[in-house]
Amino acid sequence: MENLRRRDFITSLFSLSFPIIFPVSALGKTLGNVRVELPDYLFQEYLLTGKEKGGKILIIGGIHGNEPGAYKASEILKSVKVKKGELIIAPRANVVSILANVRGYNGDMNRKFQYLSNKDPDYERVQKIKELIAETKPDVVLSLHDGFGFHAVNRKAWGQCIVIDEKVYKGFHLGRIAEAVSKSVNRRIEKREWKIPVYNTHTFSPSTKHPEQRKSLTYYCLSKQNVPAFCLETSKQLPSLRLKVLFHLMMLKEFFEIYGVEISPDFDVLEKEIDKFLAPAKFYSVKAEINGRTVEISSGKTFYLHKGSYFKVLSCHGTEGTNVICKDVNLNWRSFHIKRRVALTLKDDFRKIFDFRVVVV
Ligand SMILES: [Zn+2]
Repeated sequence: MENLRRRDFITSLFSLSFPIIFPVSALGKTLGNVRVELPDYLFQEYLLTGKEKGGKILIIGGIHGNEPGAYKASEILKSVKVKKGELIIAPRANVVSILANVRGYNGDMNRKFQYLSNKDPDYERVQKIKELIAETKPDVVLSLHDGFGFHAVNRKAWGQCIVIDEKVYKGFHLGRIAEAVSKSVNRRIEKREWKIPVYNTHTFSPSTKHPEQRKSLTYYCLSKQNVPAFCLETSKQLPSLRLKVLFHLMMLKEFFEIYGVEISPDFDVLEKEIDKFLAPAKFYSVKAEINGRTVEISSGKTFYLHKGSYFKVLSCHGTEGTNVICKDVNLNWRSFHIKRRVALTLKDDFRKIFDFRVVVV
């Protein structure tokens, strides 16, 4: 019985991955291996402008890749219309870490704003964020995170709080604004540990307990660009992604009111529609070019290619968070050669959609 089951399993595996052999084209000719090309990791940025004059808010999501509440809440806002003011959103600041679903695939990006070698794999992304702030000159930068634990019941935890670097800095009343947001959102939160207090790291003070924060985005905004900045933190330990997004939207609603940005639909509507925004796409596929021929891949398949071939992913279809990664190589590489085989994974942010393989024959 055991053997039979095993044989059935193996047969079904083979029938799933039926061999497709592609001829070698002159174009893809390389010696003794197959070239794999994946789409670049794009830095997503959106600029939404209202008809009415108002404030200007810049939202940075996904600096840490394993904080989906942060990047999903940022992404939801790119679907709205701005009625008053301006809204600039970079929802997936650290896309490689989001697809890897780790805090920082190339180290902690929120420690890269003071100094960074131009050889660092995150260099371009960090530069993009800095340029975005310099070019748009927002009234405020909001850096979204899902921290660990619950600050209301553990003062050392970074989850569920609004982080400020100082109460007042360069005339910016960070403490007063954060306290006003905290007070408003906490009226709606009953559970004690889920309440969102203000966490002052005193980053500019010589006696700060958090000197590492001097390498962060918010410190960079305040010290180098003269722009007030806040970290909005929900908790990784909240029971659902929906709740993480909800708490982000609740905080954002208050910041939007303070800084004079109005959106349509408003936050009350967005809060009711969170599940719709978090739903996976109805259909996912990958368009690839193999030795000059285009193929559409919508499930796990194995492609058997002769040496000298190339396999190029042209585009991915699904959501804005959909891309292909290859865990068999360094995730920063988007073009490489293989000698035997690799597994490629279509991902929608943290979700794995399906694997497909390229085998050299
Ligand atoms: Zn974070």
